[in-house]
Amino acid sequence: MKLSLIIPCYNEQDNVRAFYDAAAAAFAQKPWSYELFFVDDGSTDATLQALEALYEKDPAAVRVISFSRNFGKEAAIYAGLKAAKGDFVGLIDADLQQRPEVMAEMLELLLAGPEYDCVAACQRERKEGGLLRGLKKGFYRMIDRMADVRFQENASDFRVFRREMADAILQLGEYHRFSKGIFAWVGFRTKFIGYDVAPRVAGRTKWSVKKLFQYAFEGILSFSTAPLHAATMLGMLSALAAFVYLAVVIIQKLTCGIGVPGYATIVVLLLFLGGLQLMGLGIIGEYIGKIYEQSKHRPVYITRRTLGLKEKNDAEAETPDGEAV
Ligand code: UDP
Ligand code: MG
Repeated sequence: MKLSLIIPCYNEQDNVRAFYDAAAAAFAQKPWSYELFFVDDGSTDATLQALEALYEKDPAAVRVISFSRNFGKEAAIYAGLKAAKGDFVGLIDADLQQRPEVMAEMLELLLAGPEYDCVAACQRERKEGGLLRGLKKGFYRMIDRMADVRFQENASDFRVFRREMADAILQLGEYHRFSKGIFAWVGFRTKFIGYDVAPRVAGRTKWSVKKLFQYAFEGILSFSTAPLHAATMLGMLSALAAFVYLAVVIIQKLTCGIGVPGYATIVVLLLFLGGLQLMGLGIIGEYIGKIYEQSKHRPVYITRRTLGLKEKNDAEAETPDGEAV
């Protein structure tokens, strides 16, 4: 029985060795074997060299996939999933904020509970500023209401699941990958456990507030068409309001003649309706943009080098639909 652990690494030169040591210590003397798929997501520091050194040290357990440039964590997870062949597949960050010991516990829960297909960790307490925490909470509420699938608040990518679930995730070949949504969409029975995030060992987070907003937007666009419905509803409401106002004007004219023409009302209405129209167009445009990008069938990632992968094809570039490029 084997655990394939996927570790996306972007500029983690000072963490990969520490991660390897922690994982080796946590998984030693376990009844299952493991392999570590480090995915170097186009790092610009010495991450790849550090990974090469790890591979030389332990070629039995270490696998390396190195991208030609930075394609993002989602692409790294996808590449790892494609290459991982274990009975269980786990996802974990390279910075040791998510501890390998917890991963071992999660796998044991999965082994002891055949009724579950996945064990996922939720952050017990977010160690972030109040504003960011509030925004993230708001995002989860919003996406949960908008999307057809249920989103678990504070769930992270830190999880382990069975082969069947990994295969199901791989069937979703979309270009814009939003893992949290994909996990929810494929279904399966997930057990959520609480965990405390440890501080980063070295380096800094790759998430800026701007990137987080983009990510949140991406998630909503990928898993919900609610914004399109909202635009339709707003349009209908403003049309209704226009009719009501028309009735008011007619009644006014019949009862007390024409009042003083209010230019302020006209300007406000003009701006309001113009704004609504642009917003509606913008929302449609966002979806069309996604369709355009998906229709180009570009690969989600491009591999530059691999180490320790038997079949090189496993990690080679493929279009999201599985066609060879
Ligand atoms: N990561 C990645 N590609 C990116 C950004 C991040 O592979 O473009 C990896 C990163 O190396 C780390 C994990 O994703 O292992 C989580 O990133 P980070 O620690 O920056 O996020 P945070 O923990 O602050 O949410
Ligand atoms: Mg981190």
